[in-house]
Formats: sequence, C-alpha cells, structure tokens
Amino acid sequence: MSARYGKACDIVVFGGTGDLAMRKLLPALFYLHRDRHLHPDTRILSLARARHDGGSYRKLVRRHVSQHVAKADFDEATWDGFAERLDYLTLDVSQRVEFARLARHLGEQPGRVRVFYLATLPDLFAPTALHLESAGLVNAEARIVLEKPLGDSLKTANQINDRIGSVFDESRVFRIDHFLGKEAVQNLLALRFGNALFEPLWRNGHIDHVQISVLETVGVENRGAYYDHAGAMRDMVQNHLLQLLCLVAMEAPVHFEPEAVRNEKLKILEALRPITGMDVQDQTVRGQYSKGKRAGEQLPAYYFEKSVDHDSNTETYVALKAEIDNWRWAGVPFYLRTGKSLAQRKSEIVIQFKSVPHRLFPGNDTPVGNRLVIRLQPDESISLSLMAKSPGRGMALQEVDLDLHFDEAFQRRRWDAYERLLLDVIQGDATLFMRRDEIEAAWRWVDPIIRGWREVYRSPKRYAAGSWGPEAADSLLERAGHVWSDER
Ligand code: NAP
Repeated sequence: MSARYGKACDIVVFGGTGDLAMRKLLPALFYLHRDRHLHPDTRILSLARARHDGGSYRKLVRRHVSQHVAKADFDEATWDGFAERLDYLTLDVSQRVEFARLARHLGEQPGRVRVFYLATLPDLFAPTALHLESAGLVNAEARIVLEKPLGDSLKTANQINDRIGSVFDESRVFRIDHFLGKEAVQNLLALRFGNALFEPLWRNGHIDHVQISVLETVGVENRGAYYDHAGAMRDMVQNHLLQLLCLVAMEAPVHFEPEAVRNEKLKILEALRPITGMDVQDQTVRGQYSKGKRAGEQLPAYYFEKSVDHDSNTETYVALKAEIDNWRWAGVPFYLRTGKSLAQRKSEIVIQFKSVPHRLFPGNDTPVGNRLVIRLQPDESISLSLMAKSPGRGMALQEVDLDLHFDEAFQRRRWDAYERLLLDVIQGDATLFMRRDEIEAAWRWVDPIIRGWREVYRSPKRYAAGSWGPEAADSLLERAGHVWSDER
C-alpha cells in the first residue's frame, strides 16, 4: 500500500469517549493509520471527564473500532500499531487549570502540527479555545476543528466565532460539514467541472428545478434533549442542505483552492432570496412525526421520544422552496427537504431538466425532461434518465437510466467522509470546510424563516412516522406543477 504521510502531528480529540469519536473519528483514524497516511510520529490523545487510564481507554476504543470498520480490515497487527499512537487524559474542559496537565502531556514541540478536534457540545467550544491559549498550547501550527451545530442563530454563531477567532486565525479554523467529505458530493464537482457536457446546460434555460433531499428513517434516538431545542432547520438545513445547494449552484472557481471555492459558495448564499413574514407559509412546510408504522413495526410519536417535551412544537421535517436571485438561476426553484422517521433513508440531489420544446413523436403526450440523480446515501451513484424508443412498433418513448455506481466503477474501498476531512486538516487544506462568512450568510437566510414560524406558523404539520412526510410538502411542489422524485 502506498504511503502518503501527512506531517507529524498531535491529534487531540476533546470528547474522546463520545458517540462521534467512537463511531466516526477513531475508526477514520484507524484507517488513516492502516493505509499509512499518518506520519509514524503522529500521536492521538483523547480527552473527556470519564476516568480511564491509557489501557482501559484503548480497550474501549478497540471494542468500538472493531465494530465500525469492515471485519476484513481489522487485524491484530494493525490494531497494535494504532494502539501505540493512542493515549487518554481525564480532563474537564470547563476547568482552565486542568490544561496545564495537557500542556505537560504534549510537551514542548515547537513547529509540530496540533489538531484540536472539538467533538463536544458547542457550549464548550469557546472555553476550550481560551483555555488552550492560556496554557500556551496554540502554536503557529495549531488547528481547531469545530463540529456542527455552530450556534443556533446568527447571534450565537457570531459569539462562538468571535471567541474562537480571538485565539485562532480564520485560516486555522476548520468548521466541518461531513457531507462535504463524501465522495459522491465531491463527484458532483467533478461532474460539473471535469466534463464539458453539463456546463452549457447547467442553468435556467435548461434546468426546470432542483430537489435536494436528506431523508432519515431513524427518529431522534438518544439526541432528544439537543434536538428538541434545535429542530430540523438548524440541525440539517442551515448546514448540510445549504452546502449541497451551494455545490450545485456555484460558478466554477478559478482554482480548486480554499478561498476560491468558498468565495463562490458564499456568492450563492448571498443570492438566496429571503423568505420572510407570510411567505414562510407559502414557501416552507414544517412537520413533526406522530406515531406510525414501518414494515409492521410500531413507531413512536416525536413527543413521546426520550428527553422531548410532551408539548413540543419542534419540527422534525422541513420542506422549502428556495430561489437564487442571480443570472444563472433566476426562475429555477430549489426544493429542499429533510426529515426524521420517514419511509426511506436516502440523500440525493435531483436535477430536473426541461423537456424538449416540440413533441415530435405521436402518442407521447406528456414529454418528460431528462433527470440527473446524484445519490449520496445509502449507495453512492449517479444516474441520468434518458428517453429511448420502446422496442416494437411505432415510436413510443420510454424513460431509461444510465447508471454509474461508484462501488462497481471503482473497485477500491470507499473512504469515509471523516477520513478525507481529517487528512485535509492535518495537511492544512480547508477547501471542504466552511468559512466564517458562509456560516453567517447561511444563518442570515435561516433566521428570518425561524422567526416567521414563531409568528405565523407555530404548529408543525403532523405526519405519520414511517410515511413520506406531511401532505403539505407535496402541495408545495404541486402548486408549481412539480412532484418529488420518489413519486414519479
Ligand atoms: P456525546 O456522545 O454526548 O459525547 C460528548 C463527549 O464530550 C463525551 O466524550 C463527553 O465525555 C465529553 N464531554 C462532555 N463534557 C465535557 C467536559 N466538560 N470536559 C471534557 N469532555 C466533556 O456527543 P456526540 O454525539 O459525540 O457529539 C459531539 C459533538 O459532535 C456535538 O456537538 C454534536 O452535535 C456533534 N456531532 C455529532 C455527530 C454524531 O454522529 N454523533 C454528528 C455530527 C455532529 P464525558 O462526559 O466523560 O466528559
């Protein structure tokens, strides 16, 4: 296996006993170790309040990592090598004095890359950064990685960003959106900017509308306390869905470099037409799941989930119609939807092209436009629907799909998003991370919708758990003569 070492670094995982660390970060680091992307001197230090020594922590990590990597990829020799890099320190990040111990543990290593990964609640982001600084741990090569959600409004996001920014220069702040680490999402960029075929058609003259869906079958699981405060808009739309929209809509950057890419994404966020006041009733749908069934299994209502308020008005589903006021996209609706406890798990981007201008073949009364579907979950694929002649007499047309499944086209193992993104942090490449002004522009668009809901749209529409969401989400599209792609 080819080695592509990053620089030697200390990867410090705050929240090293949590769900994200165990399910995603440590398995990703295990793969980076196995595939020799980590420098031999790279160390991983996990921190949390729970009492562990190095040995008991490594045992815990072993259990989780062996569950979360493919069986064939986990062997004792690789684990032993990985375990040698791994250590643990009990530390409460809210206590400044405890950071002196962290400094002693890391030791004086001028010039060594330090990655501080904050896999903790966002309330702890600012204190952690300030305490790192006061312990003298923020060297010239230090980077901080922040997980979503970054605040719950423009105001609170600014408070966090101001305090982080007082310690870390913006170029050293890596705001992660793991959707951007997905191969299929990066393939959207390759598709758009690596092929001459699509670019001339990628505009309002040829595209009828766009649908971006991130649908989940799970409910809130054990995240009720967080989710009941956040809701689907803050948890999914403000970050993941808007980032996907940016990648579909942005102009070609001059270079594939952080500032050039992020400048183009920012222009899209700034061109989003505000949805304010009564418009929230026409252009958005908010829903909440009530009890339902999937494949015979009874599913609970949202307000009966653990740690959720019984009178909760929090939305577990959002559908909305976004419009981009610029030359390329004027008049093209971008429909976004996301929800929990739905019929099917899938994340996809659907580009619906306009139909042919003239019906040439008799008997094909409703011409259907071509459709490009970029599937991110559960499988990663791209399919393009074309009209073809149905075999036999006459010229009856029928839709057929050209399919590209990445796992068939490329026989190599697919990287998890966190592997790619962690390596980018180590190498200091922020292309796939969100810059502060992007976060602000996203909140500037989202805040008025949430305010509008409070004023004119308090109660979410109910939908049965296990269904496709509230009927109002279908009407949102029907009013413009469109349907969600799963209903075609
Ligand atoms: P979690 O399971 O609750 O883990 C939180 C971690 O933080 C634990 O290791 C906890 O350990 C530690 N912690 C809490 N208070 C601390 C303190 N004062 N000092 C030191 N450590 C402390 O949460 P999670 O699901 O891993 O999520 C972590 C962050 O990532 C959250 O901001 C979440 O929104 C975000 N996120 C998570 C996921 C995911 O898939 N889980 C996905 C996207 C984003 P102790 O209690 O032992 O201290």
